[in-house]
Amino acid sequence: MPERIYLDYNATSPLRPDAREVMLPWLGVPANASSTHQSGRAARAAIEKARVQVAKSVKAEAANVVFTASATEANNQVLRMTEASAVFVSAIEHASVLNVAQSLKIPHFLIPVTAQGEVDVAALTDLLDRHGGDRPLVSVMLANNETGVIQPVQKVMKACRRRSVFLHCDAVQGFGKLSVDIRSLGVDALTLSAHKTGGPVGVGALVFGACGPVPPLLTGGGQESNRRAGTENVAAIAAFGWLAEHAGDLVKESADKATLREGMEQRILFIAPEARIFGMESERLPNTSCLTMPGVEAATQLMHFDLEGIEVSAGSACTSGKVGKSHVLAAMGIPEKEARCALRVSLGWGTTEEHIDRLVESWERLFRKKQS
Ligand code: PLP
Repeated sequence: MPERIYLDYNATSPLRPDAREVMLPWLGVPANASSTHQSGRAARAAIEKARVQVAKSVKAEAANVVFTASATEANNQVLRMTEASAVFVSAIEHASVLNVAQSLKIPHFLIPVTAQGEVDVAALTDLLDRHGGDRPLVSVMLANNETGVIQPVQKVMKACRRRSVFLHCDAVQGFGKLSVDIRSLGVDALTLSAHKTGGPVGVGALVFGACGPVPPLLTGGGQESNRRAGTENVAAIAAFGWLAEHAGDLVKESADKATLREGMEQRILFIAPEARIFGMESERLPNTSCLTMPGVEAATQLMHFDLEGIEVSAGSACTSGKVGKSHVLAAMGIPEKEARCALRVSLGWGTTEEHIDRLVESWERLFRKKQS
């Protein structure tokens, strides 16, 4: 049986052996960081170490890092708990931003994106002028999970500067792939997650800038300095800290994957020059490719690759296990017929040249079969 090949790192990634080692000691011991006995104090020390590591990795103050159980939770906290007059979110945000914004009882607006998948800053400026009110909230992601397109967050920040905007950035797909600096991004709040870059699921972080924290979403115990109630997941937080400590190395490792990604795209374009790679003219994450197999629906491709032992995902949002319409490609103005043929290939720490060879060979097999 040949090895199964995992190329869906933007959904989640396999746990890095080093992160696993950091977690192991915490899995067999009682670890409630609020307890005053020795076990509790040891857990507290591990969390505070991780808080400093995460803060340093994004150039924030440790006191401004709040650990959550997921990035989804962190996004909910910002959107639901910031007292805003209106909310402006880009049309390509993750569902944990988009759906929450739509459910709020204050006016909400979608910031359009260009055909290359970048937030249209001029359109945002215009929206803020017309509908901003006295305390608007703007949420723009650092890099898109489907196309990998890196967003002009600094330009967004400049457009927000004079308007007392609360600016949030979902940096989930950027962490460990790009260097992330909360000060140079100039945002008020940053969402991070560990599991897209070799960490465990079940931990995220909300990092605040100079504005200080927003009120808690979850209330109960006084954990996280009253900013997020609930017993902390020490094992996962410690592993998150390890990733943050090594963020520089992870970014370099991720940059190296760009060569594999580019090779894959070139070979696919050689096989099928009419194949389309979305966001190709924009700056993208080094690990992500969203590409069409002309005339072959994503559902068919997914089944074919899965049967051949290769795990990828549809370019379209696939949150319920079904291949749905991609709001990201729709926002970029891609006709639905073409978008339905889009596949997302996302590489990560375990990806090798051989994996990419097998993907390209498998891609060609299906393409030729459908042509004949
Ligand atoms: N934000 C982005 C950009 C994502 O890609 C994801 C997950 O795919 C999330 C937020 C939510 O992360 P989680 O499911 O870990 O809460």
